[in-house]
Amino acid sequence: MINKNIKAKKHLGQNFLIDKNIINKIIEVSEIKDKDVIEIGPGQGAITELLVKEAKSLIAYEIDSDMISILNSKIKGENFTLINSDFLKNDLNWKEKKHLVANLPYYITSDIIFKIFKNISLFSKMTIMVQEEVADRIKALKNTPEYSKLSVSCQFLAEIKKEFVVPPSCFLPKPKVNSAIITLNFKENLDQNYVNEFLNFIKICFSMKRKTLFNNLKTTFTKNKILEVLKINNLKENIRPQELEWGEYEKLFKDFKN
Ligand code: SAM
Repeated sequence: MINKNIKAKKHLGQNFLIDKNIINKIIEVSEIKDKDVIEIGPGQGAITELLVKEAKSLIAYEIDSDMISILNSKIKGENFTLINSDFLKNDLNWKEKKHLVANLPYYITSDIIFKIFKNISLFSKMTIMVQEEVADRIKALKNTPEYSKLSVSCQFLAEIKKEFVVPPSCFLPKPKVNSAIITLNFKENLDQNYVNEFLNFIKICFSMKRKTLFNNLKTTFTKNKILEVLKINNLKENIRPQELEWGEYEKLFKDFKN
């Protein structure tokens, strides 16, 4: 259990989990038994303590040096490696695919998610705690207000499940909004270069959400090419980015490459 006297650092997104049932449920849905696991932001080790017992190996990245001695005294195990460093600044490099489990620091949620996607061939599954609103954006369907670059990117790469909602009372200090656990099971055989190019294409398509797709694409492709590709796909010239699902985007992406 965590030490409630330790002052949480707001600027590092520290909201420590204090609810045992929620921690058990995270372990259950993350399916990490005998797997190689990465944890981002172990904090005082609320999830780490259980991860280390179930996983084959666990590497945890924690930016806050004050957490390191707490973790080292609490968590024993030859399968545990603790790295005192900013996850975003680390080059990732290993042989076997790993599962990622994290109660994410909310101030860098999307930077972390896109870093994982830039290294997709290193991961098989990701179980993350995010603000509920982010979980809803990740799984949003086209033509809804939540639908965004994040939705298309995640749905292109993974089977997604919003597992359960976690109320503020399960954390110390309490965040202002509900959180949710969401799992992304990554598709197999994703080619990293293809993924990078596709994600970049989606970034261009959604660069201005209120503009038409045509206007967003104009920054990168010629007018004639855009008109040609829209026509092949039977799309109106004034179609908006939020009107297409990931499969339709992949088709457009391939047509622009040709
Ligand atoms: N896992 C713990 C728990 O569930 O109680 C703590 C979760 S807390 C929401 C986020 C953790 O991420 C904090 O321990 C914080 O220090 C750490 N953190 C913040 N930014 C980080 C970064 N760039 N790299 C690694 N860890 C980071």
